[in-house]
Amino acid sequence: MKVMKFGGTSVGSASRMQHVAELVSSAGRNLVVLSAMSGTTNTLVEIAGYLYNHNSEGARDTISRLEGKYLKVIKELYSTEEYAAKARDFVHEIFAFLGTFSKQLFGPVQEKMILAQGELLSTHLMLWYMQEKGINAVLLPALDFMRTDVQGEPDGDFIREHLTKLIDENPEAQLFLTQGFICRNAHDEVDNLQRGGSDYTASLVGAALQAEEIQIWTDIDGMHNNDPRVVKDTEAVRHLHFEEAAELAYFGAKILHPTCIQPARYANIPVRLLNTMEPEAPGTLINNIPEPGTIKAVAAKDNIVAIKIKSSRMLLAHGFLRKVFEIFESYRTPIDMICTSEVGVSMSIDDTRYLGEIIHDLKKYGTVTVDLDMCIICVVGDMDWENVGFESKALSAMKDIPVRMVSYGGSNYNISFLIKEEDKEEALKALSASLFAK
Ligand code: ADP
Ligand code: ASP
Ligand code: MG
Repeated sequence: MKVMKFGGTSVGSASRMQHVAELVSSAGRNLVVLSAMSGTTNTLVEIAGYLYNHNSEGARDTISRLEGKYLKVIKELYSTEEYAAKARDFVHEIFAFLGTFSKQLFGPVQEKMILAQGELLSTHLMLWYMQEKGINAVLLPALDFMRTDVQGEPDGDFIREHLTKLIDENPEAQLFLTQGFICRNAHDEVDNLQRGGSDYTASLVGAALQAEEIQIWTDIDGMHNNDPRVVKDTEAVRHLHFEEAAELAYFGAKILHPTCIQPARYANIPVRLLNTMEPEAPGTLINNIPEPGTIKAVAAKDNIVAIKIKSSRMLLAHGFLRKVFEIFESYRTPIDMICTSEVGVSMSIDDTRYLGEIIHDLKKYGTVTVDLDMCIICVVGDMDWENVGFESKALSAMKDIPVRMVSYGGSNYNISFLIKEEDKEEALKALSASLFAK
C-alpha cells in the first residue's frame, strides 16, 4: 500500500478533484490523504479571527462567501442530482455549524474545530465524486485514528492500532481516503498538526502502515534547487537523502512540511514528491541513500532573530554554555544556529514568543545584543568536511553579502549563513548562479 497525499491546489477546484480521482483510481489500493481546497484553511482562520474579535457580522459574511464557493464547486463536480444533493446537504450542515460559533464564547478549542472543517469538506466531496464514478472508495475519519499525546506529539501506537483496524474492517475497499492535518488531542478535543500539516499526516500514516512509499503530490515537479518563488529557472532535484530533505524543509523549502521527514525516515519508507498537474514527471525521490559529490539545493528561512551574548570573564568557563542553553530550554525555544568565540556566543531563533524574557535572563551572564529581521540561508548537499572545495564554493557565492553567522560541520549535509532578510533575494540568486548554472 502507498500513501498519496494531495495538497490544497491539487484539490483546489472541481476539475482538479476530478483529475485526482482519476489519477488515484488507477493507482491501486492505496491510502489517499487530502488537504482542504486551497484558500479554505486561510478563510477559516479569518472566520476565527472575526469570532475572537466578537465581530459576528464579519464572521457571517465570510462564512456565507465560503459556502457560496462550495456550492459552486458542487454544481461543477457532480453529474447526478443524487450525489449533488448529498454534497449540498453536507455543506449546509457544515456551514450551519460554523454559524453557531458566533453565539458562543470563543477560544482555541473552538478555533480548532473551525479549522478542521476544510479537510472534512474536501474529503467528503471527493468521496461522493468517486462513488458517483463507481469507485469503491472508503473514507477513514482521521478524527478516529490520528491522535496526539499529552505532549502534543503524535501517538504512534494509537494511530497504528486504530488505522489498521479501520482498514481491516473494509476488505472490499478499492482505495481509502482520509483527512490530512486534523487529529484529536489527549483530551479528545479536535486539534491539528499545525498549518501545512497534511504532509505530516501522510508521513505518520505511512509509517503506521509500513507503506511501500509516501507520495506528496503538489503543484510543482519536485523539490527545486532553489526557492522558485524568488529565483527564476530553478530546477527539480531528482534525489535527496532524508537528511538533506529534512534540512531543506526545516530551512524554508515550503514544498515539504518540516516535520514530515522524520517518521518516514525512522520507518525507512521512501518519500516521493510528485506533480499533480504533470503526473508523468519523475519528481524527487527521498530515501536513505547518500549521493556523494553534489550540492543539491538552497533554501531560506525568514523571521529569524540573532542573539549575541558577550562575556569576557565567563564565556568559555566550565558550565557557561549550559547556563545559556538552559534559559532557552526553560522557554521551550529551540536554537537554530550557534557560533562561539573566545568572548562571545551568537545564536539564532525563529520562535520569538519569549524573546523579551530570554534577553532579560541572558543579561545575568553578559552583554546581550539582538538583530531582528534576519534570514537563514541553507545550502544542502554533500558537505562532508573531508571533501575539498564544496563549502568554499558556497562561501565565495556570498562574497558581496554581509554575513552575520556561518554554521558548518554540524552535519555532513549543510552549510548555513545568517544574513539580513533584505539581502535574501540577492543571496539566493548569487548561490544559484554560482552553484547550479550550466
Ligand atoms: P501544497 O498545497 O500541495 O501542500 P505547498 O504550497 O505547501 O503545496 O508547497 C508547494 C509550493 O512550495 C510550490 O508551489 C513552491 O512555490 C513552493 N516551494 C518553495 N520552495 C520550494 C522548493 N525548493 N522546491 C519546490 N517548491 C518550493
Ligand atoms: N489545510 C491545512 C493548511 O492549509 C493543512 C495542509 O494543507 O497541509 O494549513
Ligand atoms: Mg504544503
